[in-house]
Parts: sequence; C-alpha cells; structure tokens
Amino acid sequence: MSDSALKKIAIDKINDLAAALMQKGTLIAPVREEKGSNFREIKNPQDIYLDYDNTLLSPKNIFFPQMEDFVNYQLGKDATPAKPVELNLKPAFLFGVRPCDVRSFAIMDTHFYAVGIIDPYWKARRDATTIIGYAFDLSKPADPADFYNTLGIGAADPEGSDIFMVKKDKELLLKGITPQGEALLNGLTMLAAGNAADEKYFTEYVKKGKEPRTRMMCLDDKTIAKKYEQIFENTEYWTRMADGCLSCGICTFVCPTCYCFDICDEDIFRQGARRRIWDACMFTDFTLEASGHNPRTKVYQRLRQKVCHKYSFSVRKYDVISCVGCGRCTRSCPVNIDIYSIVSEAMKA
Ligand code: SF4
Ligand code: SF4
Repeated sequence: MSDSALKKIAIDKINDLAAALMQKGTLIAPVREEKGSNFREIKNPQDIYLDYDNTLLSPKNIFFPQMEDFVNYQLGKDATPAKPVELNLKPAFLFGVRPCDVRSFAIMDTHFYAVGIIDPYWKARRDATTIIGYAFDLSKPADPADFYNTLGIGAADPEGSDIFMVKKDKELLLKGITPQGEALLNGLTMLAAGNAADEKYFTEYVKKGKEPRTRMMCLDDKTIAKKYEQIFENTEYWTRMADGCLSCGICTFVCPTCYCFDICDEDIFRQGARRRIWDACMFTDFTLEASGHNPRTKVYQRLRQKVCHKYSFSVRKYDVISCVGCGRCTRSCPVNIDIYSIVSEAMKA
C-alpha cells in the first residue's frame, strides 16, 4: 500500500467524482429506496447515498444477475440458430462497498473460477469492475445482526478493494490499494492530495476498524467444519434450528455468498432463451427429481444443507467458510432465524 496514493474530496463535491466515473464507464453505488438502500447503476450522481449501514441486497447481482440470458433463438417456421448473448461490458466502478461484501467477492471467485472451472460471465464482469470499498462508520454501533468480526473481517479492512474510502468529517479520503486503483485515482483531477494528517487518520481508522464491533465468537474453520460432520444426523438440533422456517429462500437471495442457480429454456410466442436464474436450496422443489423423488422434503434438511454448505462443505472443499457475517439473512428472515445463533448452538451440541 503506497502512502502517496491518498486523495480526498469534500462529500458535497461527490457529484463531480461520480460524473467523472460515469464518463469512464458504468457507475454502481448505493441509492436510497423505500425499504432501505441498494446498489444500482447511477444515472444521476445526486442519487448516491453514502449514509447507509449496509444494503438490503448484497452487490453479488452486479457480477451474477438474478436472471440473465445466455442464448436467444426463434422457434417455428422462422426458426433461427441459437445466438449467444454478447456481454458488451464497459468498465464498471462499484462504489461504496462495505468490507464484508468485498470479502464475499473473493469467496465467490473461488466458486466461480479460482478452482479451475471458469464461469465466463462472472469472470468477465469481475475483470471489468473496479471495487471502491468503504469503511463502516465507526462512530455508530454495528447493526445487531452483523457478525463479520467472527469471520476475521474488520469494519475498515481495505483488502480486496482497488480503492478504499474512509469518511473524515465532511470529506472522503480515498486510497489506492491496487495499481489499478492508484492509476484511477491519479487520473481524477477533482481529487485533492491528502496531507500527513489525512494519512495518519486513514491508518488509524483502519487499525481501529479491527477492534471488535459486531457479535463475535471464537470460530476455527476446521473445528466448525468437523463439528457439522459430527452433528449432521442430529435431527433434534436441526429441527430446533429450523423451527418456524417458511422455506421462503429470502436468506439465500440476500446473501452475498449464495450462488445456486437454475438454467432453463423458456419460449414465449416462439421467442426462446436459455436463461440462468437464481435458485435456492431452501426451496421445497430445489432437489425435486424428475421421478418425483425429493431427497430433501423436510425443512430441517434444507436448512442443514444451507448451513453445512457454508460452514463445513466449503471449508472441506475450498478451505474457506462461505459466509462473511454481513447479517443480511438474519435481518431479512420473516421468522428471525439467525445463522450466528445456529452456529453458536452447534458448538454446544
Ligand atoms: S449466510 Fe447470512 S451472514 Fe453469512 S454471508 Fe450470507 S447473508 Fe451474510
Ligand atoms: S429467510 Fe428464514 S424463513 Fe425464509 S427460508 Fe431463510 S431461514 Fe427459512
């Protein structure tokens, strides 16, 4: 991390920065919506909303849209061969991502390309995108559902971002973390150079961000993975944990590290598309087989799959817990099922 890369801008001048990024490509940033904030493509810089804690939906849909077509074709007498859908990507700037979400991208990279089988759609979007991370506001308490500290993530960790931002009074401090981020910052002429006091503030903020702020338990990857192997058949524990679950799947849709999808062919008025759509292991028919057999008919079996995938199978296969403690699943669950409590109960089971 080079000290010379620190820049700054007054928050009330953020529109100038946004406009410059929009000229270079697609700018995606948090905007305020009826139920909370979400990442959206910015058309008007004034829509950017930085006074948020974390977004309702994770930003995974920037790289992995909820629905996308791979090929289009025409059926019937005017039938045409299937034509691949071109991505036509412009450079993109994902602005204001919290450190736990930035960490989720690295976990998803493992699933989507780092272990050898490359998902070209995920990779192309990742390669086209500059990540501009943003520290949580340490002057405010963390959301009660958060537990990213348990997963070793600090509230102001710059790792994984190309540029990392810290708020200092009425200014934003921006530091280039990767050469790509530094080059971008150096080309943005509306930014002022940070001074020694800014450097000190930034460094101390990152350090302070490592102090415990969220719910926290002592969790060793291998130990929890093994524990779940041991209690996989403990039906009493799993039914207790799944009590009240509606199988609605919201917890998986909001999660930055859930990536199940379905691929189907759909045609309407003979216009066909091969389409990828998010799916969820919490849905009743997720494992329904063509024969009519379903190996996971019970709610507890589906919750077990979700939790064990993140905390055991992922550790065994990729050496990483596939959860960043963002708390979204807990905040969104209509019956208050809390994955942190599920994991802490497992340690006692
Ligand atoms: S399981 Fe819950 S806490 Fe963990 S990453 Fe997914 S939404 Fe966040
Ligand atoms: S959000 Fe809650 S109720 Fe819905 S599937 Fe997830 S755990 Fe079950």
